[in-house]
Amino acid sequence: MNKELIQKAIRKYEEKAGKRLNPKAVLFDMDGVLYDSMRFHARAWGEVTKRHHIIASDEDFYLHEGRTGASIINVLIQRTFGREATDEEKVHLYEEKAALFNRYNDGEPMAGAADVLRKVGESGLQRLVVTGSGQKSLINKLNHTYPNCFSPEKMVTAFDVKQGKPHPEPYLMGLAKAGVQANEAIVVENAPLGVKAGVAAGIFTIAVNTGPLSDAILLQEGANLLFPSMTALAENWHSIIQK
Ligand code: CA
Repeated sequence: MNKELIQKAIRKYEEKAGKRLNPKAVLFDMDGVLYDSMRFHARAWGEVTKRHHIIASDEDFYLHEGRTGASIINVLIQRTFGREATDEEKVHLYEEKAALFNRYNDGEPMAGAADVLRKVGESGLQRLVVTGSGQKSLINKLNHTYPNCFSPEKMVTAFDVKQGKPHPEPYLMGLAKAGVQANEAIVVENAPLGVKAGVAAGIFTIAVNTGPLSDAILLQEGANLLFPSMTALAENWHSIIQK
């Protein structure tokens, strides 16, 4: 992407926000941004829904990515059976899905993510993770894949928030943990509802389209910039933070 288009997108954000973009922290979503794991989430959800005769397509899991497990289950049960999911269904179906995901997930990092993290660090910006995931071992896994990038007190997970994405709460909490204002942060997201959450929090939101959905869906949710990969974001990083 050329520098002029990037600067144009920043000016557009600044006009709407009424403030200059002055990045001090980058809030990274995890699945589909730091890890190439969405294919395993989709596979696990696909098997669980099929087993329980719940109507769902592969695309559904990418469209609803970012919601809590309970929220995804409720959406699909409502659509299939015309009623709310029971608490028991929310717990058991999520357990089944989590078990399958853990079996399939190979922990493959997203191509280019290490380069983005390195450049963000070299720029002197804080690096935080904001995820709807509730895996207890997350911080250990992140430290193993990306050494010295993240600290436990600067993470937002499923355990920290009441409202999942697309609600802005996870990203507002990310701002609070970083100790910065909305115009002092950048969100990096792959999912439509994650983009929506970042935009609703008033943060300059970069979409990286690492999945099967069209660019248009991410742009409709208000993404300020869109790149086809983390590698492309790494290549353009200096054009984004140049003053
Ligand atoms: Ca994601």
